[in-house]
Amino acid sequence: MVKFWKDCISREIGEMDKTKSMVLFPIGAVEQHGRHLPVGTDSIILETLLKTFVKEKDFDDYNVLVGPQLFIGKSNEHMNFPGTLTYTAHTLYDMIDETIGSMNAHGFRKFLLTNSHGGNTDLLNLISRDLRIKYDIEIYVFDWWFTDFWAELNKTLKESESPYGIFHACELETSLMMYIAPELVDETAISDDTPDEMFSGNEYVTLFGPVNMGWKTKDVTKSGVIGSPSFASREKGEKMLRYAVDKLEKILGEIIRFHY
Ligand SMILES: [Zn+2]
Repeated sequence: MVKFWKDCISREIGEMDKTKSMVLFPIGAVEQHGRHLPVGTDSIILETLLKTFVKEKDFDDYNVLVGPQLFIGKSNEHMNFPGTLTYTAHTLYDMIDETIGSMNAHGFRKFLLTNSHGGNTDLLNLISRDLRIKYDIEIYVFDWWFTDFWAELNKTLKESESPYGIFHACELETSLMMYIAPELVDETAISDDTPDEMFSGNEYVTLFGPVNMGWKTKDVTKSGVIGSPSFASREKGEKMLRYAVDKLEKILGEIIRFHY
């Protein structure tokens, strides 16, 4: 069974076999996405992915619950741009801690923090270890920004490059939004932007080391875009969503089988 937490009746949750159950906890963001994408992009993509997943997928004899999504994440790096909303690391930490703590109080002990915003990643990795120890639970982090999640698809689909491997309002997000909600994309305002020039000539100080810097978006891009949305298309977006839904099924299958 795959179902949203909010759609369950209390007794249904109470009677669920917790040894055969896990909970996804989705965490998105509301922040500027250049001049062409809506501020809710990260949360809209994550919500669509999970709605599609709940509609299409099933695990025999195992319960996958999708918890209520946090629409706002930690986006203080984008606060120079209008429309960005952010929680502090402390607030987001407490919200995740207290939500997982509530779920754990009802007997659940396997969790997947499901993330769609690169600015949340560091905190999620940190909190997953803290909560593993605090509640003695199994907890995993699903992240598509700083992992090889898209690698297979990128081989055939992705056309743009960035030597720093960091993207925002890019080919990926723009394609997904063109497919999911084309009416929210202003295609006339699409333009590419990368921080590559800023670091050119640097051997050590880059976005990915060996010396990292505490940066905010305004430091590395004027438009708010990092990447090449000009390569985006609706067709790519459809393939990306399909790929993400099917790959998430495989990932969950492995998490369900794995114990620690
Ligand atoms: Zn984004």
